[in-house]
Amino acid sequence: MLVVQKYGGTSVGSLERIQNVANKVAKNKDENKDLVVVVSAMSGETNKLIDYAHYFSKNPSPREMDLLLSSGERVTAALLAIALNEMGYKAIALTGRQAGITTDTTHTYARIKEIKTDRIKKEIEDGNIVIVAGFQGINDKGEITTLGRGGSDLSAVALAGALSADACEIYSDVDGVYTTDPRIEPKAKKLDFISYDEMLELSSLGAKVLQNRSVELAKKMGVKIIAKSTFSDNEGTIIADKKEGEDMEELLVSGVALDKNQARVSLRGVTDRPGIAAEIFEKLAQKNINVDMIIQNASKDGKTNLGFTIPQNQLLEAKKVIESFDHDLEGSDYDEWVAKVSVVGVGMKSHSGVAAVAFKALADNNINIEMISTSEIKISMIIDEKFGELAVRLLHEAYGLDK
Ligand code: ASP
Ligand code: MG
Repeated sequence: MLVVQKYGGTSVGSLERIQNVANKVAKNKDENKDLVVVVSAMSGETNKLIDYAHYFSKNPSPREMDLLLSSGERVTAALLAIALNEMGYKAIALTGRQAGITTDTTHTYARIKEIKTDRIKKEIEDGNIVIVAGFQGINDKGEITTLGRGGSDLSAVALAGALSADACEIYSDVDGVYTTDPRIEPKAKKLDFISYDEMLELSSLGAKVLQNRSVELAKKMGVKIIAKSTFSDNEGTIIADKKEGEDMEELLVSGVALDKNQARVSLRGVTDRPGIAAEIFEKLAQKNINVDMIIQNASKDGKTNLGFTIPQNQLLEAKKVIESFDHDLEGSDYDEWVAKVSVVGVGMKSHSGVAAVAFKALADNNINIEMISTSEIKISMIIDEKFGELAVRLLHEAYGLDK
């Protein structure tokens, strides 16, 4: 049985904690598992290295940044191998290049192209526990690249896929994926299982357990992920494919997420002519402004109203774009104090009336819904930010997630 394990920054955040990981890895080896262990940099280390670079320059060269940042993971990998050797276990630490991870040429945000697994396979055959420095690879010019923040998750999933591992266990300081943020709703429950698609919706909404790209890759390669805590023996949450209707008692809804980093833009009296929406949204896109929900009202006397949401921190930039359309609208206003609550669940696909439950739960408590958008597995609602937490608790209860 081949298992890929990944230990995040907090799990290896001190020398004692690296020893603790070494003990866990050793225990797994004693159970006769073949192991590839991917490690992050010690917590805070990557940020510290970035600060170091910014001491000298506002715009450090991306090539040098990759060389710098990749060192954090190498330190942990080498230390873990040294600790395991000292305990009498055969272990070898590899950089991304030595592990055969090749990427494209984009520095600081590279994509993995291919993993040449011969070296890792040979080391496993020789009886080694293979420790791999996460978050990095090499491009075809022989330059070191890194995979973007949180990229060690991606390294682990890619390795698990390339090696056809039996499992990919991602260890962090939380013991899995919850029905909602337990700090908002203490009755939140840990999920035994969540599908890739639900996980992608929940993480883009702020439930940061796994790096998004790693979930996308896991879905593409069919890698089953188990998210677990390093500091407990709890079961964790399995992230895999869920076939519709497979489980008769499947939850209609898996989770409720809150995103307060939202702002609403409302445009009044927009000239209703073909192409106006294209012009506005093209210009916003050129400025890399992420438009989320869009509402256009039926037009009256050649004028229409248009509303949409964007990330709060892009509001200034968006205002500038809107000002350039002055001649095409009567007025605009902006509201930073909105939040998006979303209800996510694959069970929605095959059931009707799921959205009505959400609308009623909010209406019964006098929370006004300003905008709505839906997909096959998600209902999102824009509301006044001050009701965000309350709405999460109401929806959590309305769908029986506390049971
Ligand atoms: N050390 C990198 C970061 O902090 C990669 C990772 O931890 O996954 O983003
Ligand atoms: Mg991480």
